[in-house]
Amino acid sequence: MERQLQAAQLNCPSCNAVLTPWGHGRSREVRGEFGARLFVCPRRSRCSGCGITHVLLPETIWPRRADAAEVIGAGLEIAALGMGHRQVAAHLGRAEGTVRGWIRRFKGRSEDVRRYFTVALVALADDPVMPDPSGTPLAEAVSAVAAAHRAAATKWSEMHTASRWEFAGRAITGGVLTCSLPAS
Ligand SMILES: [Zn+2]
Repeated sequence: MERQLQAAQLNCPSCNAVLTPWGHGRSREVRGEFGARLFVCPRRSRCSGCGITHVLLPETIWPRRADAAEVIGAGLEIAALGMGHRQVAAHLGRAEGTVRGWIRRFKGRSEDVRRYFTVALVALADDPVMPDPSGTPLAEAVSAVAAAHRAAATKWSEMHTASRWEFAGRAITGGVLTCSLPAS
């Protein structure tokens, strides 16, 4: 991402003009798997067209989440097996309220996520195998993500380096960009 930024290969999600380097955002701590603590200093960029600044996040973290994509994704996969948020929280060693928030948000988007990754699966796979309807909307969305990731990993071998939920986050957000409003 840094390389793309320096080479003027990133475009503004609002107006599509080239993004230029613009310092760094506030560093933040992200909790990884097994209690790992990651410190992330997001890169900031400024649009050469509309002047809006954008924070560029690495794929291991999602906007406004204190936990790594891997951890949240693991929690969603456990929830898809039918466990409630308390069991998921105990399994991951996270606060119940935090996990309930992930699950609630994901449930609210599960139909969009399922549809998005089902379309992606059909586009990516030569011979797409649809996941079995597994009951809950949450479980079906998780299955669709997994199936699309497998298809992507088959099609592009470098996708192996992106784990399932990093892949999902990239696809869901349509890029690694989150917008911050220009200071007024
Ligand atoms: Zn712009």
